[in-house]
Amino acid sequence: MFRRKRRLRLNSVMRNLVCENTLNIHDFIYPLFIVEGRDIKNEIDSMPGVFQMSLDNILRECESLQNLGIEAILLFGVPPQYKKDSNGSYAWNSDGIIPQSIREIKKHFPQLYVIADVCFCEYTDHGHCGILDSKIQSVDNDATLLNLARQSIVLAQSGVDMLAPSAMMDGQIITMRNALDADGFVNLPIMSYSTKFASAYYGPFREVAQSSPNFGDRKSYQEDGANAREAILESLNDESEGADILMVKPALAYLDIVKSIREKSLLPLAVYNVSGEYALLKAGQKLGIIDYEKVMLETLLSFKRAGADIIITYHAKEAAKLLAAK
Ligand SMILES: [Zn+2]
Repeated sequence: MFRRKRRLRLNSVMRNLVCENTLNIHDFIYPLFIVEGRDIKNEIDSMPGVFQMSLDNILRECESLQNLGIEAILLFGVPPQYKKDSNGSYAWNSDGIIPQSIREIKKHFPQLYVIADVCFCEYTDHGHCGILDSKIQSVDNDATLLNLARQSIVLAQSGVDMLAPSAMMDGQIITMRNALDADGFVNLPIMSYSTKFASAYYGPFREVAQSSPNFGDRKSYQEDGANAREAILESLNDESEGADILMVKPALAYLDIVKSIREKSLLPLAVYNVSGEYALLKAGQKLGIIDYEKVMLETLLSFKRAGADIIITYHAKEAAKLLAAK
């Protein structure tokens, strides 16, 4: 049959009626990088519009995020070098930058949903995501699990709304869940970075979070970009360990994985639209070679179409303004 598909595209009302996916401000989580000190707001060279901020400026930022309708934030701590050690012990200091920030943000903005990253790469002096095991020249999985549990409890006690473990240690979800439940935090959800690839797209983030490993790479714990079955298994495994929300990171180069996990799990699924993806669009905007706003919205929509419910993105503020103006 000669089907006239264009019948359903000829006017905007019909296009809206048959539209399968839409972007919504409520889909977004906005990442924030917090440094110690006062009155600090350092823009990241490769990520225009993204800043390292001290807590006073973070509180101002939270107000503007709320005014834009953005309801969820994801916090990363950027401690000074002298507070880092081989274990990353500052990560479970209850007076550390993130526990302190959570308390202040929740005091001033109780409606804002505060999520905290759970990992050690910003806190270890070697930049890896846990304690090192010299025998394997990499991270000691089970020793790191104990510390992830400690960090989780401190964050929970600080009043965080959700935890987002990103270390890619085996068994991290069940370890955290058991520790949280034993301390009475049965209602605190875990959004797992369940399928996190060892990706070059993280480059600009490591500049902003000052978390580059000072030797080697993260390929012995993060997922190999060549592997699809293993990537799905990672997320399904976290589901079985008790994760409440799954995630694929990065987003754009791994939309096939997003779609596959969407088909195999009934849990909510997030994508992390990472720093390198953001930086490339910003570079394209600066060079004047793309219509930045349209490309950005098209990119964000592709995540929804692939099956993501939640989008962690540095574009959230710009997208919120554009969506509000529609
Ligand atoms: Zn890490």
